[in-house]
Amino acid sequence: PHRDLVYPSGPAPCHHNHSLNPSIRVMQWNILAQALGEGKDGFIRCPLDALNWQERKYLILEEILTYRPDILCLQEVDHYYDTFQPIMAGLGYHCSFLAKPWSPCLDVEQNNGPDGCALFYRHSRFSLLATSHLRLSAMMLPTNQVAIVQTLQCRATGQRLCVAVTHLKARSGWERLRSAQGADLLHNLRNITSRGSSGSQSEAESGAVPLIVCGDFNAEPTEDVYRRFSSSPLGLDSAYKLLSSDGQTEPAYTTWKIRPSGESCSTLDYIWYTNDSLSVETLLDLPTEEQIGPDRLPSYHYPSDHLSLLCDISFREQPHRLM
Ligand code: NDP
Ligand code: CA
Repeated sequence: PHRDLVYPSGPAPCHHNHSLNPSIRVMQWNILAQALGEGKDGFIRCPLDALNWQERKYLILEEILTYRPDILCLQEVDHYYDTFQPIMAGLGYHCSFLAKPWSPCLDVEQNNGPDGCALFYRHSRFSLLATSHLRLSAMMLPTNQVAIVQTLQCRATGQRLCVAVTHLKARSGWERLRSAQGADLLHNLRNITSRGSSGSQSEAESGAVPLIVCGDFNAEPTEDVYRRFSSSPLGLDSAYKLLSSDGQTEPAYTTWKIRPSGESCSTLDYIWYTNDSLSVETLLDLPTEEQIGPDRLPSYHYPSDHLSLLCDISFREQPHRLM
């Protein structure tokens, strides 16, 4: 199914420096854990055939390789070691994975191991300065949710960038836990990005390393954890708001599925970016209701119940040190 790359409302991006400072393509996607899709989710309008891993994996890989992101953030990865790690490494990506401590996949018969978050970046573009594997806490207690945070350095310009991927606790009734997990992640990100900037002259005025946070937050924009992210001192904004005509409204859905309990159409996935040091140049449009079809997601055409998010992000400030 075709999706357009669109320019957010506002002036067309300026390309005079593009060869020196090309934008960074970021993809965020909850790919649907194979064990959960077949064993737990109960997508009653999705034919079981469409969930067959030997075919579904090619739809996931095709979508990734169509856009060839520089940075790829995935959730619900339960085929890392046998699929994504070898394939993405072969394509020149640096790969990391962090399993959930008690993945619900492990309750499914014939599972392929725990699901978790995975972060990939193109090795030719970035070098790795630091990695943190976080088990998120809530009210001082460890939870079943994780995050990977990596500080990268652009090989061409020396500019630094911090990237995080996470998957917060699902289901209604858990709003306070999600909010606390978000607070813990923000606290860690603040430490990591400010530590990274010490002694450097090359970051924006805030002095902190620019940040991109990708995740399935399992939270609508009305939830407390969304408010925490949009009003944090890190100065984060949500990229997909820029698809809307006023630039202030999140899309109507990033996931759309039918379970025995009913139809669920909601916005749960986000790409957050530091607004004062990064800007969003292009976004991948979301499929329409007609394109998604009456049986919703997943389907023979869309391999996950979540849609991928993709945008091109560039540094607002020119690098101080050029090649
Ligand atoms: P979550 O509640 O965060 O959800 C786990 C997965 O279920 C997510 O990937 C979520 O998808 C999906 N999901 C969301 N809503 C539904 C739904 N209505 N029906 C089916 N699936 C749904 O899981 P936790 O991390 O809190 O783990 C909970 C599970 O982990 C327990 O059920 C248990 O199996 C296991 N566990 C085991 C422990 C042990 O001691 N052995 C300890 C703790 C947990 P999405 O994000 O896309 O919405
Ligand atoms: Ca899921």
